[in-house]
This record gives sequence, structure tokens and C-alpha cells, in this order.
Amino acid sequence: ASRLDGVEMAPPDPILGVSEAFKRDTSADKLNLGVGAYRTEELQPYVLKVVRKAEERMLAANENKEYLPIEGLASFRKATVELLLGADSPTIKEGRVACLQSLSGTGSLRIGAAFIAKFMPGAVAFISRPTWGNHKNIFADTGVEWREYSYFDPETIGLDFEGMIADLEAAPEGSVVVLHGCAHNPTGVDPTKEQWAKIADVIIAKNLVPFFDVAYQGFATGSLEEDAFAPRYFAERSIEFAVAQSYSKNLGLYAERVGAISWVLNDAGAADRVLSQMKRIARAVYSNPPVHGARIVSEVVGNEEMFEEWKGEMDMMAGRIKAVRQELYDALVKLEPNKDWSFVTKQIGMFSFTGMSPAQCDNMTNKHHIYMTRDGRLSLAGLSSSKCQYLAEAMIDSID
Ligand code: PMP
Repeated sequence: ASRLDGVEMAPPDPILGVSEAFKRDTSADKLNLGVGAYRTEELQPYVLKVVRKAEERMLAANENKEYLPIEGLASFRKATVELLLGADSPTIKEGRVACLQSLSGTGSLRIGAAFIAKFMPGAVAFISRPTWGNHKNIFADTGVEWREYSYFDPETIGLDFEGMIADLEAAPEGSVVVLHGCAHNPTGVDPTKEQWAKIADVIIAKNLVPFFDVAYQGFATGSLEEDAFAPRYFAERSIEFAVAQSYSKNLGLYAERVGAISWVLNDAGAADRVLSQMKRIARAVYSNPPVHGARIVSEVVGNEEMFEEWKGEMDMMAGRIKAVRQELYDALVKLEPNKDWSFVTKQIGMFSFTGMSPAQCDNMTNKHHIYMTRDGRLSLAGLSSSKCQYLAEAMIDSID
């Protein structure tokens, strides 16, 4: 007996639980399309060459392991805000960005949510329906009430723009709106530039507070610049916002936990004060962030040659995902020509959002050993050319 006998077993995580189940499966056909992690054509994890190069340089420099400041590594923070807003951004030059290095995208969102709970009491966070499974956990665990706004239209397998605008217009003044900076997870559907302009109009009119989640910069269009369009555009229009950035996907630093939470504000003094309070929050949670991944980022982004090399490797990864997207589409059309499969190639980023029901997803897993989240999302980053036919057959078996 234990004094903690009253603690109930928590359910497995809807995303990371899929990887746990995959490991237990002994079938030779098994395929893990659950978590959004890039794999090679041989379905092996991939460490970017430029990351290895940076690590070699770091080792040669014989750097120490002293604590970083609470706000993180200065060269990392500089590189990270420049990557997002552009090196010549007036917001950076005028000292209006409060950037705290944090524990990848998740930890950055968490510090942002804790800041909202503390300094914007009563503010509700609006998240897209659907969204990445962890958003609800993060806001709920931090004591921030969340509600959903319309985003996805299952009929068109596209953006429900009118629904989205109507829901934002109806949100209480001062609400937080969580926006995926690019490559929306799980739908792979992003607003167009014209639509971003209208979203900005509503945000200004209703005095809403955008909170960008930028986990896939470089994975939507293949260009770091293009993928930062929305936050750069909001900054140009002097909209104040928060933004969580992650290097898990674009630099493949998943386990290093490298990212940042920033507030882009209209006043340098406010930015200083906000940073001081984010430091106060981080100090009580994990004290200061890890150094290794931050050094990798500052090496890669701070060195022109390596930066170019990174872009090449990102292009290669995004290109491989695009190629399997096309091959999956071709295989589906060949097997079932009377169905409209165009959503497969229309969606962008790492995922394919199939519209499959939980029962259909279960069939994919139980019968075909294809592991995926039960919202119908397939991670194409974990798919190889040689498995496209197998996947298409399983999809058709499950959908029909
Ligand atoms: N936001 C979104 C939308 C994501 O898809 C992810 C990664 N799956 C994250 C944030 C955060 O990931 P990490 O904590 O590894 O940076």
C-alpha cells in the first residue's frame, strides 16, 4: 500500500503514446507515421550534417559547461529573433523584442502561457479546431482557459476562413489567439497572405493578442523567409504578439530541446520589463536553459557558409516529404481513381490530414501495423518511397 494509492493511471499521450505502441509491435511491415520526426528513405533518424559540423567546431573550441544566464545564450537569442523577423527588422533594432531561450517549442509555449496567466488574468486562449494535441494541455495546466475557433472545413479539406473570422470577431476583447506561424499541425492548411491580412484586421479591431507557434519554419514553403511571413507582417502592422519557436524539426534538434519564447512589442521599456518577468517564471521552473543545442544554432545561423548548408539540408528534407506526398497521391489515384485525393498534395508541411475516423485509424494500426494519431493525421516525414504503395493500400482498405 502507498499513500499515493489514490493516484490514477494517466492515459497514454495521444502522440508520443503512438511511438510506444509502435515499439511493442513485432510485425516486419510496421510503419510509424505518428510523431512528426524526419526519417531517411531507410526510415532511420537523421542528424543534419551541418549540426555534426557545428558540434565538431564546438568540441574543438573546448567550451565550458557553466550555467547560461536565465534568458539563455545571447548569440542564440539574437540568431533566433533574426531568423523570425529578419536581420534588419526595426523591432529588433529598437530593442522591442523580449526573447527568452526556453525548452524547445513546448517549454516556450508553457512559459508564454504562464506569463499570460500571471499578467493577463482572465484572458482566454483561442486555439484552432483542430490543433496540435499539446496546446490544450499546456494552457489548461497553466490555468489559462482555452476555447476553440473554427479552422478546418472537412467538406473542402481546406480552411474554414469565414468560420475562423466569425469566431475571432465573437471572441472577448483581449483574448489570446494561438496561430500556427506556418505548416499548420495537423491539417497542413495555412491561410493565404490575403487571409492573414484580414485576420490581422480582426485582431486589431477586437484588440486580440496573437500567440504564434512557429514549429516548422522552413518546412512549409522550403524558405525560412517565406515561412515567417505572418509574424513579420504582424510586426510591420505594429501588432504586439507572443511567439514560440522550435528548432526540433528544421534543424532536427528534437531531443536537445532548443527554442525560444519572445514578445514582440511596441515599446523597448515594456520589452525589458516583460523579459524580466519571463526570467522570473523560468527561474522557478528549470532555472536556466541547456547550452548545447543553443550553441549549435548560433554556430549554424551565425556562420554564412553553414547557414547556406543548413538551407540545403532543409530543402532536401522538405523535398523528400514532397516527393513521398506525390508518390502516395499517385498510388491512391491508381488504386481508387473515382475518389478525390487532391488533399494529399494540396496540404503542406510534414503531415497529411486524411479525415479518417478513429475507427479507421484503428484499422490502419491493428490490421496494417501503420501507427498514426487517431485524429487521422499521418506524418509523411516518417514515410519512405518504398512504403507508399503499402500505405495507399491500407488507406483504401480502411476508408472504404
Ligand atoms: N507546436 C507544434 C504545432 C508542433 O507540432 C510541435 C512539435 N510536434 C511543437 C509545437 C513543439 O515541439 P518541440 O517541443 O519539440 O519544439
